Amino acid sequence: MRPFELTAPATAEEALAAPGTFLAGGTTLVDLMKLDVLAPQRVLDINALPLRGIDASDGLRIGALERMSDVARHPGVYPVISRALEQSASQQLRNMATIGGNLLQRTRCGYFRDVAVPCNKRAPGSGCPAREGANRMHAVLGTSDSCVATHASDLAVALVALDARVTLASAEGTRSVALADFYRLPGDTPHVENDLRPGELVTEVVVPRLEWAARSTYVKVRDRRSYEFALCSAAVALDIRDSRVVDARVAVGGVATVPWRLPAVEEALRGAPVSEAAFLDAAALATDGAVALSENGFKLPLLRRTIVRALLEMGGSPA
Ligand code: SF4
Repeated sequence: MRPFELTAPATAEEALAAPGTFLAGGTTLVDLMKLDVLAPQRVLDINALPLRGIDASDGLRIGALERMSDVARHPGVYPVISRALEQSASQQLRNMATIGGNLLQRTRCGYFRDVAVPCNKRAPGSGCPAREGANRMHAVLGTSDSCVATHASDLAVALVALDARVTLASAEGTRSVALADFYRLPGDTPHVENDLRPGELVTEVVVPRLEWAARSTYVKVRDRRSYEFALCSAAVALDIRDSRVVDARVAVGGVATVPWRLPAVEEALRGAPVSEAAFLDAAALATDGAVALSENGFKLPLLRRTIVRALLEMGGSPA
């Protein structure tokens, strides 16, 4: 780890006035500083800022410094969010890691975390060894010639399914951005991962009210049952009346470079009977446009099956 200056601003104004790298739970930043992937000269510990609180009185507002474990067990949080959080990382990490930090976590691509090898995301223009190398965990959707890394956050997948927005603050003021628009596809600039401007801070997550999101879940498929990132995941919410799907939300993770909403699958589900056959038909659309690498072709059928499993969990037994 390189030497750096650490300060702890007492107010948001103080934090936003001074350029530097924000430190919240530290579960990503400190890791990457130890690996030399990140080497900030100035680190601002923002844990004293008043960015906490969970308000579930009308939709959901979550302060960016709320810890993952506290949000997961809050009774007003939609099941899809709780389940995404409960299946993330380990209990110790969930007790430390914040909601804002979770949304900004970096990819787990092994080449990105190894400074001895090239990586376009870490060192723009150096190359992408994952394309021809170890790519079993990598993306099949939203990829580019420059980068095929998956987005690591489970929470972001659940939030994108629920049309969540993030509030961003800077010295110039605040703005609200739909989380689905916040993340950027890698294209030719995989080092630019989101819409965050220099000096800007995530202060809050806002989830609009959705009555039927009480019927929602997050299914995560991984190599081991805890402390592991997704090979594939599905966030699903269903509005069901008289054994028919009235409305649906579907987003997937572990397979794409950003949290991946599936509007074609949602559209196919609207008006469909609650049946395994209808769910299979809708899920078949999930892999449209998917491109497999040498080691991750298994993710295409896995993605379809994961969606069907989540839908069946929410829809009950096939009609
Ligand atoms: Fe780097 Fe992306 Fe390629 Fe991984 S997939 S080596 S993060 S450019």
